[in-house]
Amino acid sequence: MPALSTTRPLVIVCLLINELLSNLTSRVCVSKDWALMVSFIQARNVTLSFKPKNREPVTALNNFNLDVARGEFVSIVGPSGCGKSTFLNILLGLIEPDNGQMQLNGTRITGPSQERAMVFQEFGLLPWRTVTANVELGLELKGVPAEQRLARANELIKLVGLSGFERHYPHELSGGMKQRVGLARALATEPEVLLMDEPFAALDAQTRDLMQAELLQIWERTQKTVLFVTHSIEEAAYLSDRVVVMTARPGRTKDILKIHLPRPRDYEMRLTPEFNEIKLRIWEVLKEELTSRG
Ligand code: ADP
Ligand code: MG
Repeated sequence: MPALSTTRPLVIVCLLINELLSNLTSRVCVSKDWALMVSFIQARNVTLSFKPKNREPVTALNNFNLDVARGEFVSIVGPSGCGKSTFLNILLGLIEPDNGQMQLNGTRITGPSQERAMVFQEFGLLPWRTVTANVELGLELKGVPAEQRLARANELIKLVGLSGFERHYPHELSGGMKQRVGLARALATEPEVLLMDEPFAALDAQTRDLMQAELLQIWERTQKTVLFVTHSIEEAAYLSDRVVVMTARPGRTKDILKIHLPRPRDYEMRLTPEFNEIKLRIWEVLKEELTSRG
């Protein structure tokens, strides 16, 4: 393994070439990704079939490849059933692939770990626990002392904009508020990677817009690496550094589009011709997969 001082210039040269190639090839704000990056998350030929009893096996992923840099915000879009959730579950360490490898920071993923946390669409809150107690859950399982847990929970409740609701129960909260609790809970154990599986799909349109903007602020503040699954092209374009389009099942990477919109991004940005062009580019890639196999 070369020393850090010798690898750094090489990394910088790679990034410069990458940037140069992106600039040369971008028509407006979207360009192909040239994969010259320092990989933090690495999926190599990940293949997985489910083998339910008394039914035909289902190949969910077939040679799925992806590289994600540390601190990147990457969205994944693809037809229903193409293996998006399966991929996140493998990354979370809940399922092992049949073939291929998943690595985080150079280490093979072999099971769950607190460096990776998931935010689910259906929130996954415990109804008998208050907001604070839900946020504290992961810290409790880790054996963190009560005083520290409370201090950390309060900090996160503030970060997600829920101050004043600490003692409320989930049934007393709106969908947006429940998802804020889900986000605070996922952040509590200080994961490096945040996996989000259609986290805003159950929210009304305005709450969704608000949550997207707030998620961006939180991401900028906490500098997590985010993998975000969504069915919304607009959401993917607005939030992401890159958008991965998957094929219909068995899922593979069909294309990766780099979103060159400046940050911080505001809502008005979505009304620009550049933003529409980005959405169109993503749609053009995705539509082939939606129409090719019914
Ligand atoms: P997506 O999230 O892209 O909609 P999933 O990853 O949930 O898709 O599922 C991919 C495919 O694998 C689907 O055909 C689904 O029915 C199948 N599948 C997912 N989980 C299981 C399971 N536990 N047992 C059997 N088949 C499954
Ligand atoms: Mg899914």
